[in-house]
Amino acid sequence: MFIIRKFIPVFVLVSLVLTACGGTPPDVQAGLKVVASTTIVGDVVAQVGGGLIQLTVLFPTGADPHTFEPRPQDIAALSDAQVVIISGLGLEEALEPVLEANVKGTIVHASDGIDVLAFDGEVSGQDGEHAHEGGDPHTWTDPNNVIVWTENIAAALSEADPSNAATYRANADAYIASLRELDGWIRSEVAQIPVERRKLVTDHRALGYFADEYGFEQVGALVGAFSTNAAPSAQELAALEETIKLQNVTAVFVGNEVNPQLAEQVTQDTGTKLVYLYTGSLSEAGGEADSYLNFMRYNVNAIVEALK
Ligand SMILES: [Zn+2]
Repeated sequence: MFIIRKFIPVFVLVSLVLTACGGTPPDVQAGLKVVASTTIVGDVVAQVGGGLIQLTVLFPTGADPHTFEPRPQDIAALSDAQVVIISGLGLEEALEPVLEANVKGTIVHASDGIDVLAFDGEVSGQDGEHAHEGGDPHTWTDPNNVIVWTENIAAALSEADPSNAATYRANADAYIASLRELDGWIRSEVAQIPVERRKLVTDHRALGYFADEYGFEQVGALVGAFSTNAAPSAQELAALEETIKLQNVTAVFVGNEVNPQLAEQVTQDTGTKLVYLYTGSLSEAGGEADSYLNFMRYNVNAIVEALK
């Protein structure tokens, strides 16, 4: 998908030229034009769409999904797309506001239908339009939620391109089987960590669904919010360091897409380990977390290694 991205300017140019020459429609044989927001959403879309779609992933590898601002070429890709798939629940804070004005195709929120975790750890169903406001957008940290993503993506691609519905369905079923296998593997790995050590301190509150599903507690975060788009006060940091000591926390987990300066300070002050995870982005192609499945395996291995 990262290679495809480099060809966007060519696609845009071709469609501009075609428009200029009198509105000849672009070549539909080239596949459904789909845009995904984050690299994680993009990977799941690629699993379902296979070779049938022309996929553009907007956010570069390593981008923080909470703060990434769409660029002019992203707006062009959005207006050209037949289907735009985002994670949703307010994750893509800077992207969501520009969708309505620029997307002519279907906008899909991959996380639709997932029971949303509220800030206090309560689960709220999606019984209303606004049930998710202020809820945790990091749904993908539990692969069972990515099964819901996969279903939503398969439904959206099939609706936009009914002649290939059977292939999208088969691709989705094969991928869901790998997600179930991943879920079983996580359970067996996590079993190595004594229950009293299953405590997570993170840079922001990114691991709620993982914690909820696999029996961890998020005891604190450097930024006590669901977004990286905030900064803690000196008092909040002092309170966190107190919690770390009182709860015998041994490690602080930091997403690769955030500045680790605060975490370095806190781990020095408290004598804990600083452990890097992937939270909002995959690694570069060929890297240790270059697919969603590898991303979860990497993170679970790092968590188990740090806490067991
Ligand atoms: Zn986040």
